[in-house]
Amino acid sequence: STLDIRGKVVAITGASSGIGEATALRLAAHGAILALGARRTDRLDALAARIREHGGEVLVQSLDVTRRDSVESFISTTVDRFGRLDVLVNNAGVMPLSRMADGKVDEWERMVDVNVKGVLFGIGAVLPVMHAQQSGQIVNVSSVAGRFVFPTAAVYCATKFAVHALSEGLRQESPFLRVTTIAPGAVESELTSTISDPAMKREVDEVFRKDMLPADAIARAIAFAIGQPADVDVNELVVRPTAQA
Ligand code: NDP
Repeated sequence: STLDIRGKVVAITGASSGIGEATALRLAAHGAILALGARRTDRLDALAARIREHGGEVLVQSLDVTRRDSVESFISTTVDRFGRLDVLVNNAGVMPLSRMADGKVDEWERMVDVNVKGVLFGIGAVLPVMHAQQSGQIVNVSSVAGRFVFPTAAVYCATKFAVHALSEGLRQESPFLRVTTIAPGAVESELTSTISDPAMKREVDEVFRKDMLPADAIARAIAFAIGQPADVDVNELVVRPTAQA
C-alpha cells in the first residue's frame, strides 16, 4: 500500500458499530495501532479480538463522549499505553430524526451532546497532546447533512453544520495539525436505530435503504486521508452512493 498508516496510533470514538467499526478494521489491516471507544464494550472486545487474531495492536475503553472526563480518560489511557497519539477519529454520532413540531427536546439535546459536544471534548482532549508533538490529525465524521437541510433533520443538520465549522476553524488556527472532515451520504449502519418514533424510523429506513454504501467505503476514505504524507492535509471528503441524489 502507498498509504502511510503503519504504526500510527489512532483513537476512534463510536467504534462499536457501523463506520467506526469498519474504520477500525480497515486501519488495522494497514497496520495502525488502535484505541477503540464506545459504550458497548462487549462489541469493542469482540472487534479487538478479531483485530488481535490478525496480529493487530489495540486497546479498548468504555467511552461516553457526552462526558468530558470519559473522553479525557480515553485519550490519556491511549497516550499512556502507546506513548503518543497520531490521529483522533471523532466518529460517534446519533440521528434521532423527527419534525421539530414533535417537540422531542430530549432528542435535540442528545444530538447536541453527542454530535457537537462529543466532538469538542475530543478536540479538547487531544489538542494539548498534538500541540506538544507538533503533529497530529483530527478526523471529524460529519455528513452530507452538514451541507444541506431536509425535513425531520433540522437539529441533526445543525449539529453536522457545526462539525464543518469546527473543523475549518480548528484547521485555520493549527498549522501543526491536519484536520479532515468526512461527509458521508447514506451508509449501512445502525444509525437509524436512534430514531424513537417507529413510523418515522420506517419512513427514513425506506429512503435510506436504497443504494446504501457499505461502511467500509467510508473507512477507505478515512484511510486515504490518514495515509497521506505529513505535508498533505486532506480537508474534506464527500462520499455518496453513486445513485444518491
Ligand atoms: P452507528 O449507529 O452504527 O454507529 C454510531 C456509533 O456511535 C456507535 O459505535 C455508538 O456506540 C457510538 N455512540 C453513540 N453515542 C455515543 C456516546 N454517547 N458515546 C460514545 N459513543 C457513542 O452509525 P454510523 O456508523 O452510521 O455513524 C457514525 C457516524 O457517521 C455518525 O457521526 C453519523 O452521524 C455519521 N454519518 C452516518 C451516515 C449514515 O448514513 N450511516 C451518513 C452520514 C454521516 P455505542 O452505542 O456502543 O456507544
